[in-house]
Amino acid sequence: MNIAFRRNLDQEFEVTSDKAALKGRVSAYKQGFILMKAQLSGSFKVPCDLCAEPFDIILDEKVELLLHEGAYSGADDKYDIVEIDSSIIDMDEILHSEIELIKNDYHRCDNCKK
Ligand SMILES: [Zn+2]
Repeated sequence: MNIAFRRNLDQEFEVTSDKAALKGRVSAYKQGFILMKAQLSGSFKVPCDLCAEPFDIILDEKVELLLHEGAYSGADDKYDIVEIDSSIIDMDEILHSEIELIKNDYHRCDNCKK
């Protein structure tokens, strides 16, 4: 799903990838920025870091990001800033990068937690 940067943007969205879903709203924030407020839900499979057995991770996370059109060197004291290379926001790409972030964490399956 693609959403273009617009000064008056205010739009709901929902993207899915396998069993994972990102659902929320993107709206114009300040000059050059779009604020995304969304909920990550569903699940996805990761291999356990101890026994390598794949298991489901349940997603239930609030995701709030400031999207900037093009490179940005500043910071925001409230939100993480994500630079978007073009004037089009690829929502699937954002979902994938959120999943990659979680994948990079350390994961133990239920058996290994015991
Ligand atoms: Zn395990």
